[in-house]
Amino acid sequence: MDVAIIGGGICGLSLALNLRQRGISARVYERAPEIKPLGVGITLLPHAMREFTALGLDDALLAAGIENRESCFFNRFGQLIYKEPRGKFAGYQTPEVGIHRGRLHLILYETARAKLGSDAVLLDHDATSIEQDEAGVTVSFNKRESVRADLAVACDGINSAIRKRFYPQDRLAFAGINTWRGVTRRKPILGGRTYMRVGSILTGKMVIYPIVDNVDAEGNQLINWMAEIKRDSFAQNDWNKPGNLADLFPLYQNWRFDWLDVAQMIRDADQILEYPMVDKDPIDTWTFGRVTLAGDAAHPMYPRGSNGAAQAAIDARTLADMLREHSDPRAALKAYEAARAAPAAKVVRTNREYPPDFINIKVEELVGDKPFDDLDKYISQDELRALSENYKRIAGFALADVASRNG
Ligand SMILES: Cc1cc2nc3c(=O)[nH]c(=O)nc-3n(C[C@H](O)[C@H](O)[C@H](O)COP(=O)(O)OP(=O)(O)OC[C@H]3O[C@@H](n4cnc5c(N)ncnc54)[C@H](O)[C@@H]3O)c2cc1C
Repeated sequence: MDVAIIGGGICGLSLALNLRQRGISARVYERAPEIKPLGVGITLLPHAMREFTALGLDDALLAAGIENRESCFFNRFGQLIYKEPRGKFAGYQTPEVGIHRGRLHLILYETARAKLGSDAVLLDHDATSIEQDEAGVTVSFNKRESVRADLAVACDGINSAIRKRFYPQDRLAFAGINTWRGVTRRKPILGGRTYMRVGSILTGKMVIYPIVDNVDAEGNQLINWMAEIKRDSFAQNDWNKPGNLADLFPLYQNWRFDWLDVAQMIRDADQILEYPMVDKDPIDTWTFGRVTLAGDAAHPMYPRGSNGAAQAAIDARTLADMLREHSDPRAALKAYEAARAAPAAKVVRTNREYPPDFINIKVEELVGDKPFDDLDKYISQDELRALSENYKRIAGFALADVASRNG
């Protein structure tokens, strides 16, 4: 079996490595002429790390990122609402890791080239269409010769051109939330191993976590932060474009807590990029004969809850398993769709309605937009824990789920 993978992002490269592990031949066709360390921070939850550990990448990822010890939720006045241990500190066999997306991408790219051969990961290949017949598929590219394979997997991201051919009416869903992502060098916050969610989408929200330790040999960390703002008047932000400080700063200029001066952190950013908070309505059918969709091409989701990379990595492993189990590629691709479409759709919907920061929204609803004196009067820690556990269950990283798959 020979697999053509369209898109050399997180999903496409993970799929190539999973196929290689199972002795299935694959080539990756990536549109970009070179792999640059694009993006900012990304979090690899224990189920994502389980998948990357199975590919032998755990040590490299841990060395390139930061192992989170805990996750903390604060209101926009800097008061702690709830905290919990994470990754190995919560009993998982695999850690939770904050990492620069560019570093993760380069590790996958270099490993794929080393394991599959440099001629198996082809850059500057912009796929335009895939035709199929009884014997296989033909992938066509812009200004390149077309190629034949037994099947093709579209891992070409949220704006997938291949998905558009099967769903001509395909549209991004934008509900007025824009995000700005930045990185700032500064001293570690709360011990330097904490993932922080502050405020709520109703009044302004920040997600903050470290991604590089001792970035300048002076003990500073590279801190990744994301600001999310909802306005009915917003036009949709672009991807990866330099962001304008004035668009977000007014909302955060008074956020000065005894544990972090948020306003200063924003002002000191090395770089600010803008992104829209978009997804697509879930679709049931990913597989069309010898062609299927995976990763963001199959189930783009709001980048909340650190699930884009995890779900992409799980797609990759599941698809590789199915291709090993079934001799007919069409049956394998259908079995993969049957295993993955419903769980992924659930994460897409949950990220819209009850994301992990639902804890912050709930507290704001109960207390109002003001500091609290005694939070227990409004909601107990057990109730907050239940909200957190519910999200983990849906997203597939409850402790028992990750452990059973490991087993
Ligand atoms: C530039 C960039 C920066 C990002 N930054 C962040 C970030 O900072 N934090 C975060 O949490 N998530 C980020 N993401 C999203 C995150 O990486 C994905 O949601 C997730 O990992 C799913 O991976 P994927 O492989 O499905 O999609 P992606 O990682 O988006 O990869 C898709 C790949 O397909 C390629 N491609 C697209 N069209 C074609 C075509 N026609 N032919 C061939 N190749 C094609 C793209 O160049 C890209 O390399 C970023 C994605 C990109 C592309």
